[in-house]
Amino acid sequence: MSNERRPLIAGNWKMNKTNAEAAEFLDEFLPGAGDRPDVDVAICPPYTALRTVAERSAGTPLIVSAQNMHEREGGAFTGEVSAPMLREVGVQAVVLGHSERRQLFGETDVALQRKVPAALAAGLVPILCVGETEDEREAGETERKLRHQVQADLAEVEDDRLTQITIAYEPIWAIGTGNTATPEQAQDAIAFVRALLSDRSPAVAAGVRILYGGSVNAGNAAELLSQPDIDGALVGGASLDPGEFAAIIAAAPR
Ligand code: PEP
Repeated sequence: MSNERRPLIAGNWKMNKTNAEAAEFLDEFLPGAGDRPDVDVAICPPYTALRTVAERSAGTPLIVSAQNMHEREGGAFTGEVSAPMLREVGVQAVVLGHSERRQLFGETDVALQRKVPAALAAGLVPILCVGETEDEREAGETERKLRHQVQADLAEVEDDRLTQITIAYEPIWAIGTGNTATPEQAQDAIAFVRALLSDRSPAVAAGVRILYGGSVNAGNAAELLSQPDIDGALVGGASLDPGEFAAIIAAAPR
């Protein structure tokens, strides 16, 4: 998977779709999936459907992404899945630090500090999620929160590997709520994340792909995706329907 700021539209299915439902989605989605060869497209199914999606999309450019992983390769970690296990079933990328993992399952920045380099070492593209709560935004704490997450979560990644990472700015108040950030809010936050990366190196800042996520749908995608620093979208609810997901991909600027 190339990561040179080509647009990336990634569909996060969360805990949705059985293998049969995933296959049905692909039967409808894949025939038109080659329409935008200039756009990278990823689907993040639940663990149980990863192999189905990888096998059914083999030979197409579709990127198969997990939604989480453990940082160790194996061991006594009941209920967890490692990067080599994901690679074996054809996974190429992994969402790390999604706000639902952080808020509902206690995912910490300390764990992410280990997971991001572990994903890279295994050959997976990390899609690292960062974002503020509604209270933090109202208190003027958005930048402080983003600075903390970006600095902490990427602390153990060597500078020359940073451009292999994709970051998703996902304001928590916009996820699954229908309250999309305005294009200006999303652009400002993403430009701020990019500026944070120039502390590591200007080339890194210019090269890292940064997505917006939070209630993206076929109606609002074009305006969000046309912002200069927004390199794509992480899409939850609207990625469950093949027609709507295809319309979001079609909305990427040419
Ligand atoms: C997400 O899960 O990352 C997300 C952005 O969800 P939604 O599009 O449903 O807000």
